[in-house]
Amino acid sequence: MRRKLAAGNWKMHGLGADLAEATALSLAHPAPGCDILLCPPATLISRMAATLGQSPVAVGGQDCHATDKGAHTGDVAAAMLADAGATHVILGHSERRADHGESDAQVAAKAAAAQGAGLTAIVCLGETEAQRDAGETLAVVGRQLEGSLPAGATAANTVIAYEPVWAIGTGRTPTEEQIAEVHAALRAGLARLLPAEAAGIRLLYGGSVKPANAAAIFAVPDVDGALVGGASLKAVDFSAIIAALETAPPA
Ligand code: PEP
Repeated sequence: MRRKLAAGNWKMHGLGADLAEATALSLAHPAPGCDILLCPPATLISRMAATLGQSPVAVGGQDCHATDKGAHTGDVAAAMLADAGATHVILGHSERRADHGESDAQVAAKAAAAQGAGLTAIVCLGETEAQRDAGETLAVVGRQLEGSLPAGATAANTVIAYEPVWAIGTGRTPTEEQIAEVHAALRAGLARLLPAEAAGIRLLYGGSVKPANAAAIFAVPDVDGALVGGASLKAVDFSAIIAALETAPPA
């Protein structure tokens, strides 16, 4: 059975004072019925990890470089994230694919670097609104899945997040049927690409998950949790989403 995962992506939000939200979250979930992860900006990773200590709330990065060191001003290597206290890293988020032109091959190389550093890679994929309107959603996410997964991807070191680009930060979400269709296609794609691992790899939904819609989304088959942006910034909101995940039926 796949253990569910609630992952928060703080994006470029958060100063030292905001660590109080991480503390509040950990106090609200001392023995959670799902995995909980917060991915703050790189500047907060080590402080958040130190603040959380032995709490079950894990800490992750939002990107890493594909190589382990070198002349890459401003970049962070996977081993540096691990050294700072991260256990996970988000890769291929649509904002990085759009802002930095990241290709599937680059995401796969970053995921391989993450594996090498002992991190779990949360590999993001999802269609644009134009691609959905053109009926290309399953083809797009299938291509992204195949191109973004490195050799050696396993249920232990890889999580997939389906995040329709048009649902991120917009307050709009796909219907439950649309989420179910994509998650079923991703599970089938994984079965083809990684037959021995497919059943264990967690599939997260991401895109405007809020306390008000979380329970309905978590009832969709093959949804093993969520990648949450805006609603992960405040402990009270993220905690309500986690509570919905803890009581959701098995995916
Ligand atoms: C995200 O950034 O991964 C995300 C899903 O954002 P939001 O929840 O704010 O739509």
